[in-house]
Amino acid sequence: MVGIEEYQIGEIQEDGSLKIYPFYYDVKSRDPTEYEECRKCKLLPVCMGGCPMESIRKNGHPNGPGCDINKYVWKEGLKFYLMRRYPNIFSKESLIKNLGRIPDKNEGMWDFTLPTRR
Ligand code: SF4
Repeated sequence: MVGIEEYQIGEIQEDGSLKIYPFYYDVKSRDPTEYEECRKCKLLPVCMGGCPMESIRKNGHPNGPGCDINKYVWKEGLKFYLMRRYPNIFSKESLIKNLGRIPDKNEGMWDFTLPTRR
């Protein structure tokens, strides 16, 4: 983690090689399926447990949910992705051409609500 010695994952040596520090393995071994909050979350596996630094900030260690802003803007991100990936279907021009208007954000077309996990 940049700027925090305690959470350094490695160091680039003079010869270009990487000296890996133990915290690297802590971060790489994170498994969001072990976190209760992530197991119940609709964003798993897309999010994959979020940011380890955010987990440290919230939980005091890297092995926990590291929800960041993605949890709150994922619908907008998905819309943006679809509009970029499938412009023939989801561009503003296509929506206006096919529907005569851009759907209201509360309409079904933009409602990407997923079923709740059990
Ligand atoms: S948004 Fe938060 S709770 Fe959901 S998978 Fe990501 S880290 Fe876990």
